[in-house]
Amino acid sequence: MRIREIKLTPVAFRDPPLLNASGVHEPWALRTVVEVLTDEGLTGLGETYGDRSHLERLRTAAPALVGLDVHAHHAQYARVAGAVGTDVFVDQHGLTGAGSNQKTVDAVFSPFEVACLDIRGKAAGLRVADLLGGPVRDAVPYSAYLFYKWAGHPDAEEDRFGAALDPEGIVAQARLLVGEYGFGSIKLKGGVLPPDQEIAAVHALRDAFPDLPLRIDPNAAWTPDTSIRVGRELAGVLEYLEDPTPEIDGMARVAPEVPMKLATNMCVVTHEHLPPAIAKGAVGVLLTDHHYWGGLLRSTQVAALCATFGLELSMHSNTHLGISLAAMTQLAAAVPNLTHACDTHTPWQQGQDVVVPGALRFVDGAVPLPAAPGLGVELDRAALAELHENYLRCGIERRDDTAYMRRTDPAFQPKRAYW
Ligand SMILES: [Mg+2]
Repeated sequence: MRIREIKLTPVAFRDPPLLNASGVHEPWALRTVVEVLTDEGLTGLGETYGDRSHLERLRTAAPALVGLDVHAHHAQYARVAGAVGTDVFVDQHGLTGAGSNQKTVDAVFSPFEVACLDIRGKAAGLRVADLLGGPVRDAVPYSAYLFYKWAGHPDAEEDRFGAALDPEGIVAQARLLVGEYGFGSIKLKGGVLPPDQEIAAVHALRDAFPDLPLRIDPNAAWTPDTSIRVGRELAGVLEYLEDPTPEIDGMARVAPEVPMKLATNMCVVTHEHLPPAIAKGAVGVLLTDHHYWGGLLRSTQVAALCATFGLELSMHSNTHLGISLAAMTQLAAAVPNLTHACDTHTPWQQGQDVVVPGALRFVDGAVPLPAAPGLGVELDRAALAELHENYLRCGIERRDDTAYMRRTDPAFQPKRAYW
């Protein structure tokens, strides 16, 4: 079965003003929906970033895949690598670590690979998780992903989540998300306020949710010394401490000095980072992400490497829609050593999506593996058209949290080893 055509549709959807070390989310989040059509009439879906430079690379790579068999994983990868050449993409917000050529190839390849697996599953009557070795769990647990946030975007009405700028606001947000989704673990995006205020928020969460695992992720906003101090102050409170400080060497300095494991989706983001990170003992938990680890199959290979070298696994999330959630769920269901609840931005989508509702739902904080073959989701063409119209009208072509923050706070600087 051969690839006949590939359609790329950039979309935009409303995003609340979520704060992070780089600034604040803009009113619109961008994604690209990938449709791979075959000569036998089957269509597969993928979803990836919507930044213009990434979209242009997708547009360059897509024609190189036409004519290849949907099963020809390695040939597809080679074609994408050839199309990307020596190009290096570095995200503007800086929240997913340094750019590299391999990471760029992996990120461009990923949505095409996911779409081909969707097709292969549909053709065989199997779920993608079956193609990845078979599910080891029927439902994939996700964490409540909390953010400091403004009540609403500047010059806009307050959103349904309201403000969260202190421990009380964070606890209220957690109660809302845990109440609506049943999440069984909690992650706080930090790096926004001085560390002592974020420590207080974590303690407030511990008091409010004594039984739920807690994590904080300041996106490398702290120095190694501050990371060690915070880690020691949160002894016995955190499940893991995510990217407290920049770079493998910084993490390696902190890791032996704190009582919990360090996790990362910033200092280990492609294969070339694994050997030094492992040799230096920099991290104990890898947050994998198929969007930049080269798709689902290659993510299972990374998972096997982690098992070999004693790294635990969790899963990273960027703002996403239902195709990505389906792919994340299929992958997580089929990775035995993914023992931590995955991150997801789903609650912040507020129901906006490009897939037909119903296939993906949260039960006690977990997404049951959809029963239908492939990814288990269908494209909602009317919704896709509407979100594409948003893209054409919104005037945003790349995510830039820092520039958006500077419209409110002209002196704002991204926080890297800042505190
Ligand atoms: Mg992170």
